[in-house]
Amino acid sequence: MAHQLIEIGDIEKFSIVDFPSKIAVVVFMQGCPWRCPFCYNQSLQDPQQKGNATWENLTNLLSHRKGVVDAVVFSGGEPLMQKNLPAAIDEVRALGFEAALHTGGFSPHALEEIVHKLVWVGFDIKAPLTEELYKIATGGMAQVEKVRQSLQILLDSGIHFECRTTCDPRILRIEDIYTIADELSALGVKEYYIQKYRPVESDTQTSEADCEQFFNDEKLLQYLRQKFAVFDVRK
Ligand code: SF4
Repeated sequence: MAHQLIEIGDIEKFSIVDFPSKIAVVVFMQGCPWRCPFCYNQSLQDPQQKGNATWENLTNLLSHRKGVVDAVVFSGGEPLMQKNLPAAIDEVRALGFEAALHTGGFSPHALEEIVHKLVWVGFDIKAPLTEELYKIATGGMAQVEKVRQSLQILLDSGIHFECRTTCDPRILRIEDIYTIADELSALGVKEYYIQKYRPVESDTQTSEADCEQFFNDEKLLQYLRQKFAVFDVRK
């Protein structure tokens, strides 16, 4: 298929870490409306930037991956930005692959449209769910109400999903992780992960000890283990 159905920044041909317990192809979709200070994928932010891969590259790859790969993970950037995401998911499923999503929940409307087509979602929680803190964590861009609505869509759908937070010490304090845990747990989230921040190129101030503080705090870790049916750290 030669048409460019979605804008793709890059493709990871074989991943065992982006969709737990599954072997996946990861599609990094081009474009993100947010500007998180800890973003590792800044080259994916600009929706106008030309990516390193095409839809045709993806479908060609998938035609050789049947029986080897279980799923395609639509990641980003922010996949919910692209209007043809539902059609892309349909095509991937028609080729015989499961579909999964990484998102920050930027558009509840777009999520609602596709959630029933997905088998799993990795949902980024950037900060406690207040407008002020979410704005700080997303470079002033996110509307926390939309994030809340997206999270509720996942909860209502019954789909398997996880929430995860990158612990950037420039943005989050240990107290904030307690707050996030309380909020998520009260909403009914069962699975939560905290991820270590690795300083981005422009960050010359943050030390290893700053990054590690969340993971060395046994009291916090114990609290999180009690709050969620599934909890772990990713370093
Ligand atoms: S939502 Fe993800 S891709 Fe977008 S700016 Fe934040 S970290 Fe980067």
